Amino acid sequence: MTEDMIPVSPENLMKFNCSAENDCFNDCCQDLNQALTPYDALRLKNNLGISSQDFLKTYTSLHYGPESGLPVIEFKPNPGKRYECPFVTPQGCSVYEDRPGSCRMYPLARAITRSRQTGEITQYFALIEEPHCKGFGRETRQTVKQWLKGQDVDKHNKENDKLMELISLKNQILPGKLEGAQSDIFYLALYDLDEFRAQILEKDLLKEFSIPFDLLRKIKTDDEELLNLGLNWVKYMLFGVNIIFGE
Ligand code: SF4
Ligand code: SF4
Repeated sequence: MTEDMIPVSPENLMKFNCSAENDCFNDCCQDLNQALTPYDALRLKNNLGISSQDFLKTYTSLHYGPESGLPVIEFKPNPGKRYECPFVTPQGCSVYEDRPGSCRMYPLARAITRSRQTGEITQYFALIEEPHCKGFGRETRQTVKQWLKGQDVDKHNKENDKLMELISLKNQILPGKLEGAQSDIFYLALYDLDEFRAQILEKDLLKEFSIPFDLLRKIKTDDEELLNLGLNWVKYMLFGVNIIFGE
């Protein structure tokens, strides 16, 4: 951890308070260099009521990890306006209910370890103290745990941990750089969900599997089920892990 990261435990008081009254209001949504997880992208495109293709094309840029070949989706910031987030307004975040997990967590950083025996996850937190943010030192009566609850971040963390598990599997089984076609599988199944759905339902992409009728029916409208199927399909296609439906 860098010296401006202060480890905190869930029971510590949160020495931070963000407010629209602070003269730094919205500064944290400028100079953006923010990666989005598949679950972030899912929530945002549904908030905007647009397809994954339109969301990805309009609001994000695609890069590839130079060592891993993994696709990385980032917000496309506005260079004419201090590289601000496409969703910031003078009143604050216009997609607040569906803002990404990293926006919810800020200014906390979260790291996890997973037990090899039980799969149980242990979380660690640190406060990232940045000079531009005037919220530091403003004590609240909330503990870190209560503050996190207020940010409604558990669901994002739970879904994002599935991506971390997939990346960890990749590092174990395919430690080098993914080939183009492998990266495309990753991108299609995790980020371009509406295209993934269309390829399953209209082009029989998963015809080699006997997908239960119930699941096929669900993925017509349920993006979270579709993303879970996408995670399993990537594990199968890239790492040879069998898909067990109903898990
Ligand atoms: S810079 Fe810090 S205090 Fe200011 S609006 Fe952002 S999070 Fe809140
Ligand atoms: S999504 Fe909202 S909170 Fe996150 S950077 Fe953009 S405007 Fe700020």
